Amino acid sequence: MSRFKGKTALVTGGRSGIGLACAQRLAHEGARVLTAQRGASEFETITADFTDPAAPEAVIASVIERTGRLDVLVNNAGIMREGTAEEMTPEDWQATLHVNLTTPFLLIKHAMPHLRAAKGAIVNIGSIEGLGSNPRHPAYCASKAGLHGLTRAIAVDHGADGVRCNAVAPGWIDTELNEGFIDSMPDPAAFRTQIGDIHPLRRTGKPEEVAALVAWLASTEAGFVTGQVYTVDGGRTAQLSLP
Ligand code: NDP
Repeated sequence: MSRFKGKTALVTGGRSGIGLACAQRLAHEGARVLTAQRGASEFETITADFTDPAAPEAVIASVIERTGRLDVLVNNAGIMREGTAEEMTPEDWQATLHVNLTTPFLLIKHAMPHLRAAKGAIVNIGSIEGLGSNPRHPAYCASKAGLHGLTRAIAVDHGADGVRCNAVAPGWIDTELNEGFIDSMPDPAAFRTQIGDIHPLRRTGKPEEVAALVAWLASTEAGFVTGQVYTVDGGRTAQLSLP
């Protein structure tokens, strides 16, 4: 398939995990892919720390300087800080909201003239934690629920421009972000089995399984789809907790 031939895609956090899988999929299908994060990726890298409010505008300017266009924006970079509202510092709350929600807003804001020109598409990486909550995740949940709301608002305001905006809400996906959490468990192997078993599909997800949906949403095949949040979670949120 070459759904993205001649197109430019920006994936934030494309160094690892879901972002890397999205970048690989878009590149495989013909896109010129640039990624933006602190470290270097296997793609054209724009070094950016999204705790810096000036970073999004600079990243978009760099994409335009290098490629002259922007067709696809994947807002993927994200962080998780744990702790109840009582435990969490205001700094951790702010950092989470800033990287996970304000940064996508700023990237969209500065990308919009270029997306409008290209009749492009935005895909935000939300979470099932934008729909429900795991314990001790107030900032993360608020940021992802906010991102789902931002997705709808952008779709409403910019549909007439031909710009689509959708979100994907992954469940448990095997990435660096989750490996650290598993390793912190008293019995990581037992926890790995247990986490698989809470899914109707009896396993956790792979980054490629999120990237496949992201690519579809970013492509013209999804031309009549906007303002939606698509769950990719192996059926986890479809299942009630007790029979
Ligand atoms: P990873 O930790 O593997 O990747 C996160 C990416 O974000 C990295 O490339 C990292 O690059 C970048 N990043 C982190 N902090 C910053 C920062 N301050 N500035 C710039 N870039 C940054 O995570 P996942 O692949 O698991 O997560 C990707 C997205 O998917 C996140 O938004 C996450 O919330 C969401 N998600 C993940 C789920 C999962 O189960 N894994 C489930 C639901 C949603 P670098 O370190 O080089 O800056």
